[in-house]
This record gives sequence, C-alpha cells and structure tokens, in this order.
Amino acid sequence: MRKYFVPFSDIPKEGKVCELDDPLIWRKFLQDFAMDCRIRSPLCARLALFTADTGCLVRGTLTGEITVPCSRCAEDALVAVNADFENFEEFSDAGTVESESRIVYENAVPYLDMGAVCWEEFVLALPVTPLCSVNCKGLCPTCGVNLNTETCSCRSDEGDPRLAALRGLVLHNA
Ligand SMILES: [Zn+2]
Ligand SMILES: [Zn+2]
Repeated sequence: MRKYFVPFSDIPKEGKVCELDDPLIWRKFLQDFAMDCRIRSPLCARLALFTADTGCLVRGTLTGEITVPCSRCAEDALVAVNADFENFEEFSDAGTVESESRIVYENAVPYLDMGAVCWEEFVLALPVTPLCSVNCKGLCPTCGVNLNTETCSCRSDEGDPRLAALRGLVLHNA
C-alpha cells in the first residue's frame, strides 16, 4: 500500500489528480477486511488533491460494480458503486494521535494515505441492506428454502403451531 502514500511536497498549488484503479489493490483490501464481496467491473477512484496550511482537501469519485450477498436470500446482489465525495484531511497537532486522519508521517514528512481514503469511501458507498432484486422474497423463516426459486408449505402455517401439525397430517394423507 506504500505506493499510495502521496507526499505533500508532490502536490502543486493548482492541485494534483491521482487514480486508484489497480484491481490487485482493491482485491487486497477486500481480503484484508474479510469482506464477502466480488468485483464485477473494475473499481476506480479518481482524486483531486489540494493542499492548504492546515491539511489537504480531497475531492473524488468512486465507480465500479460489485456483488455482495443479498440481505434477504444471501444470493448474489449486484451493486453499482457510484460515489462523489469531498473531505478535508487535517494535519494532526504535534504530539497528539489523530486516528481519524488519513495523513501519515514518515521521518516527519507528511503523506496522504490515498489507499485509506479510497477504502473508507468504498465502505461508505456500500448499501446497508443490499438486495438481489427489489422483489426478493427472501428465505422461508421456517424451512429455509429460497422463496424466489422454490415454494414450501410453511407459509400458510404461520400462527397456531397446532394447526401447522394438522395441516401436515392432511397433506400426508392426501
Ligand atoms: Zn435476494
Ligand atoms: Zn418453508
């Protein structure tokens, strides 16, 4: 990830444009964070960096397509990632540990950790409840079959469990 450290001395007054589109880097992020997520079309982050006395303004976009498990049925849900963001990364005060900051120091030289910025924006761009389809019926809470592809007899049995037992008997005799 070291090569995605941008030294502040490399950012000119008019700003600097950087890209993070290496599929290996994105795959490594997903692996490191044990995220159940596959890349369908390449993830690409484009950043514009502008320095200021107190830190660095980061303006960017993140695009791509991924699959994650559907929050109802656990089958693949295709998610289009399309995010715009703007953050100000502040220099930490001397002697304090700014865990929130994406600015890292090596030999007292400040760098922007571009990888960390992109990863954070990616995580923020993920849907909280991804769905394979807006009409996903999910799994049967009783027997666990995927109701998008199968039917089961549990659904009409909601309510009185004694009735459920009876229905089972009737089905069996028929
Ligand atoms: Zn689903
Ligand atoms: Zn069922």
